[in-house]
Amino acid sequence: MAAQIIDGKLISSQIKDELKEKTALLKEKGIEVTLAVILVGDDPASEVYVRNKKKACEYIGFRSLSYELPAETTQEELLKLIDELNDRKDVDGILVQMPLPAHIDEKTVINAISPSKDVDGFHPMNVGALCIGEKGFVSCTPAGVIQLLKRGCGGKIDIAGKECVIVGRSNIVGKPMSLLMLRENATVTVAHSRTKNLEEVCKRADILVAAVGKAGMITKNHVKEGAVVIDVGINRNEDGKLCGDVKFDEVSEIASAITPVPGGVGPMTIAMLMNNCYEAALMHMES
Ligand code: NDP
Repeated sequence: MAAQIIDGKLISSQIKDELKEKTALLKEKGIEVTLAVILVGDDPASEVYVRNKKKACEYIGFRSLSYELPAETTQEELLKLIDELNDRKDVDGILVQMPLPAHIDEKTVINAISPSKDVDGFHPMNVGALCIGEKGFVSCTPAGVIQLLKRGCGGKIDIAGKECVIVGRSNIVGKPMSLLMLRENATVTVAHSRTKNLEEVCKRADILVAAVGKAGMITKNHVKEGAVVIDVGINRNEDGKLCGDVKFDEVSEIASAITPVPGGVGPMTIAMLMNNCYEAALMHMES
């Protein structure tokens, strides 16, 4: 039987609509959720991402402050702007669009953002909080995967007690994904480029998350009958079309549920960023 499609477009719209309602209630109390978005340089892909984030803010009713800086901006200038935004009481979230030009050190920039405004969830304080099970901002893409699992297939996917294999161990996807799955009580295996017998390891999974960045590398030989398959990968195939890490056609014949690319994990990332901004505003209200 063909797999059920987990529709990220639909689920992300639901989340954005819920946020829109909650934001309207905050507005009635005179509180405006504000995200500052910083873009350095003119990378076309980054420009699209930033535009989409600003659009989402507008839809939900957040205020977005836009800082479009020239590629020659020095690290010092960028850090100064971040400092100013850290100090501003009317700014809830700060997002610096990555990648940054080569002369700017991304780690230094991430570390400069106040953890309470780090809505991307990249600051070591927030990563640490996730690690020890404390409250903090969680990286948006893996947080989105958890929402897909919880809300997809009519809420019938159980995570607790399941074998979960994550392929990929990056700081923004694979690692936080493994911690979130652990928090949801899955039994977690993280595979990577040095993993031996990847097919066998993946075949153990009840829930398989592919976050590698290699078009179609997960085939039906990696997937157990009835597994849930989440495809985080965003790649271009030979025809220039967007595709995931998973060979969708063949895997959807044996999986019980699967996310498409595009329209799966992708739209969830922005929805979870918006959720983090809302949470940041609540936190700042209380402090
Ligand atoms: P990285 O390149 O940072 O990490 C890739 C990971 O895959 C590494 O841990 C690497 O292992 C592992 N890997 C590489 N080759 C193999 C292999 N042959 N077998 C097993 N593991 C392998 O990528 P990201 O985590 O940033 O992104 C992964 C994918 O997700 C990309 O396609 C990216 O575009 C997409 N993405 C999508 C988002 C969305 O919103 N949907 C958001 C973020 C990313 P090792 O550590 O050993 O090198």
